[in-house]
Order: sequence, then structure tokens, then C-alpha cells
Amino acid sequence: MPTCAVLIVAAGRGQRFGGSLPKQYAPLRGEYLLRRTLRAFCGHPAITKVVVAIHPDDAATFTDAAKGFDVRWVPGGAQRQDSVRLGLEALAADKPDLVLIHDGARPMVTPALIDRVIAALATAEGVIPAVAVADTLKRVDGTLITATVPRDNLVRVQTPQGFRFPAILEAHKKLAGEALTDDAAVMERFGKKVVTVPGEESNIKVTTMDDLAQLSASLSETRIGTGFDVHAFKDGDHIMLCGVSVPHTRGMEGHSDADVALHAGTDAILGAIGAGDIGQHFPPTDPKWRGAASDQFLRHAYDLLTARGGTLTHLDFTIICERPKVGPHRAAMVARVAEILGVDAGRISVKATTTEGLGFTGRQEGIAAQAVATVRV
Ligand code: MG
Repeated sequence: MPTCAVLIVAAGRGQRFGGSLPKQYAPLRGEYLLRRTLRAFCGHPAITKVVVAIHPDDAATFTDAAKGFDVRWVPGGAQRQDSVRLGLEALAADKPDLVLIHDGARPMVTPALIDRVIAALATAEGVIPAVAVADTLKRVDGTLITATVPRDNLVRVQTPQGFRFPAILEAHKKLAGEALTDDAAVMERFGKKVVTVPGEESNIKVTTMDDLAQLSASLSETRIGTGFDVHAFKDGDHIMLCGVSVPHTRGMEGHSDADVALHAGTDAILGAIGAGDIGQHFPPTDPKWRGAASDQFLRHAYDLLTARGGTLTHLDFTIICERPKVGPHRAAMVARVAEILGVDAGRISVKATTTEGLGFTGRQEGIAAQAVATVRV
């Protein structure tokens, strides 16, 4: 087995990106984008060493992003080509047989693509992943089209680009300062043959905020959480259900306002994001929550969801009791929950059922509620 090092180029300052941090450190589903790139290589069995070229100003952020990974950073240069040369020189003492050079802002690289590049290096000196050009290409002068470019022999190229290590190191040293845009170009200029292997459309380079938003959306998943709660009746003249005061011959026992439905809804959302349960967030032993309106519990769970970039697809309640009748209040309950969360009422459902006189709800000792939250995170 040849030894194969990886050089990840992450020294850019991302002027086109517009965020407060360079794009490689932008958050992607709760972690640094670069961390996902690092994981792809650090977890690959054929990779023996990973070096990352970064801007020295980013050292602290990089250290945070690379926590737990066996990687080393080297200071990059003014241009991409300088960063690659410096990274290759830093790897020279290890004398790897092969090196893969990869953009830090391509976090979706797959093990299969890494395998293809390495496999092709058995017979080639340079290998780059390429994908077809689907769009028609035009040459322009300002906004005026001057020609249609035949795309028959054109491809779009990606990284990781793979090379025999001694050859690419020598090429970079010899051609330092030429500002070539990729490493295959350095090898071509050096007179070496570079071949393509199939790239992957999903292996995108994050360049703009739009790219990041699209990638984040494509990685989101649907999750479901459930909640269940029970409260006993006590003396009183109304109960709270889904944030609505419902007149009744009894009241509800509870530390807060005892809104059994909102408690179940809170647990459903917390469950969908794995954030514990309502008792952890609002301990019944805390006097602060005595008589508290339960809409704040539901809102808190929802805020935790949105803070993770998540959205609520649907929240479905089932209220289980003989009395009071829920039907006359159903529309108000839906509207109130939608108002608490600031979501469309079409995303909220309130249903009710009895237990046919059976059990504690049948004996009218209390009310039970279930909720199912469907979220995208
Ligand atoms: Mg409760």
C-alpha cells in the first residue's frame, strides 16, 4: 500500500463569502464546515497524514474546528498556489508516496471519490475528478454574447486532486509565484500528464452564503418527537388547554397553570431535537414556575429548535378526556398555539377523544394529552 498524505487548503479569507468568518469556518449543521471536510479524510483508512494550510490569524478557530482530529496546520501563503507549495514542503519530511490536495470548503467529498482518485494514481502521475458541463457556455464581452462555446471536450474539475508526491512538490517549487488556479495546472505546466476520474455533483465548493444555505437544507432531516402528560382535576371553574382558558366545573392540579396539552407539546418538540424533557428545563421544585403560563415552556422548546436551524413542520395534539368538550374550543386552541409559536395555523392540529368511560380519564379524575412534533433539522 502506498502512503497517501492529504493537504487541505483552507488559508483563504473568503472575500466573496461575506460572512464574519472565512467560509471554511462557517457553521454547517452545528459544526464548522471545515470540520466536516477534515472528518472525510481523517476517517478514511488509506490516508496516512493530514496537513491543513490556514491563515495564521485563524489558528485559534482552526484548533477549535479540528478538535479531536489528528491533523497539523501550516501557515498558508498569499495565493492558493503559495499555500499548496508551503503545505507540500511541510509534508516533505514524511516522504509520502502520494498526496491528495483538497479545498477546505468542499465538505461533501465522499470515501468513494477519495478511493477513485487514489486508485487512478496507480498508473497516472496526476488525477483530478471531473464532471460534465450541463449548461450551454457563452463567451461574452460585458453583457454582449460574442460566441457559443462548444462544450464537447469541456469538463468542470473538482478536488481532491491526487499526485505522486515527489513530482507535484518539484513542480510547485519550480513554478512558484505563477498564480495557477489549480494543482493539475501546475503539473500540466511542468510537463506531466494528468487524467480525470468521475467527480460527484454533490461535491460542491461552498463559495457564497447561498451555497451554504442550499447545502445546509440538503443535509436537513425530518425528525419526530412525542410528548405525553397527565394532570388531575381539583376544585375550580376553568382549565387551561392549548393556551386557551376553557370554562369547566373543575380546575387542574399542577405547579404551573397545568396546561396538560402544552406540556405534552413542549416535550414533543424537545424530544424531536433530543433536548431532554420539560422537567429538566422547568423543574417543578422551582418556585419561579408556580402558576406560570405554559406558553413560555412551549416557546422555549421551539426557540431551542430554531436556534439549531430547525423548523417545525407540524405539531399534532390529542386531548384525552370525557369533559369538558374540546370541539367548541378547537379552533381557538389551534389559533393560540400558532400564535405562541409564530407559525401558520395549518401546521397545528388539535384532536380530542374519550376513553369510553374507562380508566382515570373515564372516571373524570384527570386529563391526559399526547403530542407529536414533526420537525426538520
Ligand atoms: Mg405537566
